[in-house]
Amino acid sequence: MKYDFLIVGAGLAGATAAHELTKAGRRCLVIDKRAHIGGNIYTEEVDGINVHKYGAHIFHTSDKFIWDYVNSLVEFNRYTNCPVAQAPDGKLYNLPFNMNTFYQMWGVKTPEEAQAKIEEQRKEAVEKMSAEGITEPRNLEEQALSLIGRDIYEKLIKHYTEKQWGRPCSELPAFIIRRLPVRLTFDNNYFNDSYQGIPIGGYTRLIERMLEGVEVRLNVNYFENKAELDSLADKIIYTGEIDRFYDYKFGHLQYRTVSFETETLNDTPNYQGNAVVNYTDSKTPFTRIIEHKHFESFGNDLYVNPKTIISREYSKEWKPGDEPYYPVNDDRNSSLYAKYKALADEETNVIFCGRLAEYRYYDMHQVISATLDKISSLK
Ligand code: UDP
Repeated sequence: MKYDFLIVGAGLAGATAAHELTKAGRRCLVIDKRAHIGGNIYTEEVDGINVHKYGAHIFHTSDKFIWDYVNSLVEFNRYTNCPVAQAPDGKLYNLPFNMNTFYQMWGVKTPEEAQAKIEEQRKEAVEKMSAEGITEPRNLEEQALSLIGRDIYEKLIKHYTEKQWGRPCSELPAFIIRRLPVRLTFDNNYFNDSYQGIPIGGYTRLIERMLEGVEVRLNVNYFENKAELDSLADKIIYTGEIDRFYDYKFGHLQYRTVSFETETLNDTPNYQGNAVVNYTDSKTPFTRIIEHKHFESFGNDLYVNPKTIISREYSKEWKPGDEPYYPVNDDRNSSLYAKYKALADEETNVIFCGRLAEYRYYDMHQVISATLDKISSLK
């Protein structure tokens, strides 16, 4: 055999596996059907701005090991995600839900006043649920109402979530919004994690560093030449969609895909004053606008480049031919995934890594961590 490992996919999972296995002296071949490395974290420099071509990625983790790991490869900046929401009432609100949001929503100024208001809002939802014998929120709607109440649910959660997932909140799993914190401080940092930032120069650099010294072949479609490619290596690390690997034999898993309307504004150095503005109403067809330069230029640096680049993000149901972005972890898909996972568990020479192969709504730090775990015994 020419290679110890054939790694299918040059995204974060594939690059992590390739980096570690190569360091351990294993011969790896990485292939990707796209013309570039990086998968969906790929960034491309356009007019001096690193554009997140497949949607905004913000690295955040509380795992010091993972933070040190990525920082040993590239330098990260001090970007802190503080998205703003454009709500159906026409007003702007800070996210995540914190004292600024509560002041904007209800005019409350102290944690005590905010707490009282949230309690009043929650009480209504919790009483209604317990009258129906529901003790634990069964879906995203119940989770949101019992966590924060109707005002915030209707202005900041319901429509955004339904646009994002294309399903009613009552049919979505609660865990999707468990990642959204509720805080009684004036803290607009979207994440609770200890560490956060963006690789200076973009994510493509991180992947380039990981793939240094690794043979990579781009524009190679694994499934068009599977037998031949498989014969090149002892083991395969597969990071694509798990249902595709098994030729959809139990049926298609569902994914959400995203499309972007990207525009360069030549005489606008600062379009929206923030990297991320969410549109939490039902009328605006897109979910958010990303202004890419804010990920890497702060303060007066913003004005050095007279241009800006924005992307309007539209969420859609995936269909064959589209790029998959988000697994839809509802009941139907979770049980279908379990059937594919049972087949994957039987494989002796194939390891499934990453968001698509494990069908999990992983963040980047979780992709790295899970991949390191999976390959640790293969080194
Ligand atoms: N969410 C919401 N309102 C917002 C932002 C997020 O209700 O303004 C909910 C929504 O259900 C979304 C989830 O929180 O799917 C996670 O959002 P986040 O932006 O963290 O996810 P990403 O798309 O960046 O992975």
